[in-house]
Amino acid sequence: MCGKVCGMQQTIDLITHAAIRELRAFTRRTGQPTHVDLMDLEPLRQINEIEITEEHITVTYNQNIEHHYNANTITQKEWSYKYNDDAEFVQAIARVIELARKHVRDLPDNVACPPGCAECCSGYEPFVSREDVQRIAEHLGLTYRETLDRYVVQRTSADGYVVGYLRKVTDDVADQCVFLKGRGSGSYYCGIYPARPHDCAAFTPIGCEDVDTNLSRSGSYKVGPPFRPRHPKGALSQRRRGRR
Ligand code: SF4
Ligand code: SF4
Repeated sequence: MCGKVCGMQQTIDLITHAAIRELRAFTRRTGQPTHVDLMDLEPLRQINEIEITEEHITVTYNQNIEHHYNANTITQKEWSYKYNDDAEFVQAIARVIELARKHVRDLPDNVACPPGCAECCSGYEPFVSREDVQRIAEHLGLTYRETLDRYVVQRTSADGYVVGYLRKVTDDVADQCVFLKGRGSGSYYCGIYPARPHDCAAFTPIGCEDVDTNLSRSGSYKVGPPFRPRHPKGALSQRRRGRR
């Protein structure tokens, strides 16, 4: 029983994670903030069964069973799609299902990052909110303003929630995050791990295709010293005056 239900839940999770990535890409492209609460996931939360036959994909969801003395009342929504009505759409669904199955087959390898992999710390630009910047500032012993000026490419979103994204070590957006430490793939680690942006903390390896496949998932992994900001001469006293 659990096999089928758990498999469906994993499928749903994978679709959700893909959707979250798309939301992030949308935010990156447009500067418009998005978050998972904006997605209407309710119909997906209570899927009871997905049946795929030669001709149909049938999804049964929101099934509600009321138990009575000698009978049960079953109410449910059901969505059914007939093959060939819209071949492109069916193919798209088949691809999603195949991808989900592939990743379910890959489990448990796919639920944890190999130690020292940090491909995503180069491939993405984590967005930061005021809270993120404040937390990083306190972690580094800097002011909010200093942290913003040194480590954030400032792009305030329309609602003011996002204040920008973390800088890379150079102006090349495909370069490493300014806080990434370590000698190379396999020994990378986040230099501000306890204070890292929410975007980084929420990032999931499930379905990640950026993983460095040369890395082993076993073995010991040593994390070096944390990231330390360089303090220009005299900055400390100025910072004490300007701390907000
Ligand atoms: S803050 Fe840390 S986890 Fe986030 S991208 Fe930079 S190095 Fe990676
Ligand atoms: S496996 Fe993927 S999510 Fe994990 S560190 Fe590597 S690139 Fe990032």
